Amino acid sequence: MSLPAGEADPERTADLRRRLAEVRERIDRACRAAGRSSDEVTLVVVTKHFPASDIVRLAGLGVQHVAENRDQEARSKLADLADVDPTVRQGLIVHFVGQLQTNKASSVAGYADVVHSVDRSRLVDPLAAAATKRGRRIDVLLQVNLDPEQAGRGGVNPELLPELADRVRTQPTLRLRGLMAVAPLGRDAGEAFERLAHLHAVVRADHPDATWLSAGMSGDLEAAVAHGSTHLRVGTAILGSRPPLG
Ligand SMILES: *Cc1c(COP(=O)(O)O)cnc(C)c1O
Repeated sequence: MSLPAGEADPERTADLRRRLAEVRERIDRACRAAGRSSDEVTLVVVTKHFPASDIVRLAGLGVQHVAENRDQEARSKLADLADVDPTVRQGLIVHFVGQLQTNKASSVAGYADVVHSVDRSRLVDPLAAAATKRGRRIDVLLQVNLDPEQAGRGGVNPELLPELADRVRTQPTLRLRGLMAVAPLGRDAGEAFERLAHLHAVVRADHPDATWLSAGMSGDLEAAVAHGSTHLRVGTAILGSRPPLG
């Protein structure tokens, strides 16, 4: 693994190695407690606000899945990475987990392998058109709002899920993979993830291939594993608290 001159910083690498091992241990323990195999759970490391050099370090530690939540930051970071270390860039599976605007769909389709945050019909056609234009197929998760009192944090109202799922299925360049959600702030994550698992079963009845469930972050990954999560999105527990942007 190569790092730009001046960014080797072995202490940072050691920090990431230690915290990554801790998180993997938490996942293993949660899987054992739930009677699940760790192979069923993919760790997606959320690298938002952290530089491309950390992605190089993480790749050196065996991380393949990384996630970003803002288009502009993701685009420039991944371009930096492709310049500095094209091999690392090519080995990554890139997830987009942030709120998506229709006018950003085309840009996101340029680098994201998986989009977790499709939450309204209006996004589907632009995302599919961009994927078609770039000759790619994008894995799509439908983001569900688990907190009806908190509209605006992203996520489709559960009642509209079947319609949105059907809409994605009409697009050959999008592959409907499953659901994603964020647990409501300040409430019991287990209860929320239980509702999510139920919604997932309903969607799967119509779309048997939609087997992925993206749930669980640094603070609630154990509850998510207990309720069937297949993709954990972990940021701070591995990278540390997010520095101010800049
Ligand atoms: C930032 C972010 C995460 C990671 O959260 P942590 O608490 O830092 O682990 C997960 N999912 C989404 C959608 C995020 O924006």
